[in-house]
Formats: sequence, structure tokens, C-alpha cells
Amino acid sequence: MTQIIRTVADLRALVRGWKAAGDVVGVVPTMGALHEGHLSLARAAKADCARVIVTIFVNPKQFNNPDDLTKYPRTEAADADLLRPLGVDVIFAPSPDEVYPTGFATAVTMAGVAQPLEGALRPGHFDGVATVVAKLFGMTMADRGYFGQKDWQQLQVVKRLVRDLNIPVWVVGCETIREADGLAMSSRNAQLSIAGRAIAPALFVAMTRAAAALRAGDATALATCQTEVLAAGFERVEYIELRDASSLDPAEGLDRPLRLLAAAWLQGVRLIDNIPL
Ligand code: AMP
Repeated sequence: MTQIIRTVADLRALVRGWKAAGDVVGVVPTMGALHEGHLSLARAAKADCARVIVTIFVNPKQFNNPDDLTKYPRTEAADADLLRPLGVDVIFAPSPDEVYPTGFATAVTMAGVAQPLEGALRPGHFDGVATVVAKLFGMTMADRGYFGQKDWQQLQVVKRLVRDLNIPVWVVGCETIREADGLAMSSRNAQLSIAGRAIAPALFVAMTRAAAALRAGDATALATCQTEVLAAGFERVEYIELRDASSLDPAEGLDRPLRLLAAAWLQGVRLIDNIPL
């Protein structure tokens, strides 16, 4: 049975019992509006852990744009219907006050991997992510945390967080789940019109072509990729960059794991994607 829990006290009481019984506990942090990408994380957690908690919390601290926070879809009843058949034990859906009660004064600030790309374009975003993930790990007392490669830089931030703060959680990065036409699944895709939805896969298509061209030594591949994305109908490309896969430093040479990462705007919706080189 899937329980919906709203307070840290109730969650902790339950998890303490599980731990006393020796159960491994997995957590899947989400902001809700669940799709197959989120469900794949919950399935991975179920495969590894005796107990699984999916958290649903639209974290105000990671939104640098208030309009984006207001527009973010909230579909808790439908989310619960998707999670129940997977055998998720708990949906932890706290209120903002439960997570950030009056007097809350602490923040996790991260340099290094949190600085370029999304960190530069969305000031405060990764500090908000690092703060809430540290809190969710503390609240759930989980042994393992499941995150999507869809948010590649976020995954590196979370890996850095647990190392730097000695948080005893094993971080698992799960593959990006895509629509049949290649578009990475995202709660934001629902904000696109039918015409926008038809244009959106062009980002992944252009990135895939660029990755092949980069491997073949084509120095113009990133510029071509940008041109293709704009020609497909995207309004603006914020970045298309080749980076070291774990540090996210600018790529030097092709002899180490690299990642091609992009962010682009379509119909006022900011889409991100990344692929290995
Ligand atoms: P969000 O609800 O957007 O904060 O995402 C919650 C978790 O789901 C994050 O770890 C995301 O990386 C992951 N996720 C989102 N979309 C996908 C996807 N298409 N494939 C795999 N994981 C995803």
C-alpha cells in the first residue's frame, strides 16, 4: 500500500521502523507532474531497495523565476495513481512550511560543478537544489537516492554534495527516458502547443548529429548544431557545449568522458538535454 505522508515526524517514525528491521531505503526526489522518466527512477529504486519513498515537493528555492514557479504543474492525485501500481511505499509530499518553517536560515552553497551552464544562467538554482536535496536526505534517512541523467549537471551537483558533506547516501544516476521521437521526457513538455511539441525533438536530433561530428573531429559541429536548432523553430539557444562529464569543465581532448549539454527556448518553455559523446 502506498501511504501519503506530509510531515517529517510521521515519515521519520515509519522509516525508523524499516531501518530497525534492516530494510534498505531508497528515495526518489521529484517535483511531481510525474511521467515515465520519474517512474523509471521509482522502478530502479524498487529493484534495489526494500522500501521506496518518492518525494513530491515543488521547491521554491530552486526557482529563480517566480513565473516558472507559479506555472509549474501540480498534479498530486494523478501522480499517486501512477506510483501506486509500482509498489512505492510512501509518497512524501510536504507543504513549503514543513520544509522551510519560520526561522529557516541555512543554505547549501556550491562552487565548482554548480557554477557553469545552468548555474550561471539560473542564479541560485543549484544552491536551492543542494539545500533541498540535503534536507530530503536528512528527512527520509534514505540509503540510496535516485536521480535522472536528464538533469546531468544536477546529478553531478548531488554527487558532489554527498561527498563534500559526508552524507551517507549512495547516489544512483538513471538513463534519460525519451519519447519515441527522441524528445527527453519533461514535465515542461506539457506547456508546448501541438506545433511546439512537433518542433521540440529537433534539439535531440541536432545534438545527436553534433556528437557524431565532434567525434569525427568537426570543429564547426557546435555552431552547426545551434543553427539547426534555430532553423527548426526554437526561439533561442542558451548554450550547446561540450564539457568534461563529471567536473563540467570545458572539454579538452576527446580522451576522457565528455558530455554534450544544451538549453534552448521554445514557445517560452526552457528545454534542456544532454548526451554522452
Ligand atoms: P523533477 O521532477 O523535474 O525535479 O525531476 C525529478 C527527477 O526525475 C530528477 O532526478 C530528474 O533528473 C528525473 N527525470 C526527469 N525527467 C527525466 C527523464 N526524461 N528521464 C530520466 N529521469 C528524469
